[in-house]
Amino acid sequence: MQTRIEALYKLSQSKFRSSFHLKEKDKLYVEEKGMDVIRRHACDFVRNKLADSYPKNDGKQTPMKGHPVFIAMHACACCCRGCLNRWYHVEKGIPLTDIQQEKIVNLLMLWIENEMKK
Ligand SMILES: [Zn+2]
Repeated sequence: MQTRIEALYKLSQSKFRSSFHLKEKDKLYVEEKGMDVIRRHACDFVRNKLADSYPKNDGKQTPMKGHPVFIAMHACACCCRGCLNRWYHVEKGIPLTDIQQEKIVNLLMLWIENEMKK
C-alpha cells in the first residue's frame, strides 16, 4: 500500500491529474468553512458517490466544479470507481470499507491542504 505522499507524487506526474487546482473562490470557501467542515463534506461525498458496490452514474458522478472536494477527487483520481481501480487497484463491484473511505478522505484532505498553501 502506498502512502499519501507517494500517491500525491504519482498524481503530480500525470498531466491530467496535475491540471486540477483550487480556484480563489474554492480557497475562500475552505477558509470560511474550516478544514473540519470540509473533511465532513469529503466523508459525505466519498460515502454517497463512491462507497456503494455500484455507485449511481459511475464515471460521471463527480462534478468538475462546485465544491473544493470535487476538484480534489479529480486531482487525486478518486472521482469514480474506474479511476479508483486504475490508480489504487480498488476492486469494483464491492462496497468500500470504512477504512478505504477514510484513506480516500485523508488523501483528498492532504491535497486540499497543499493547495491552500499555494
Ligand atoms: Zn474517475
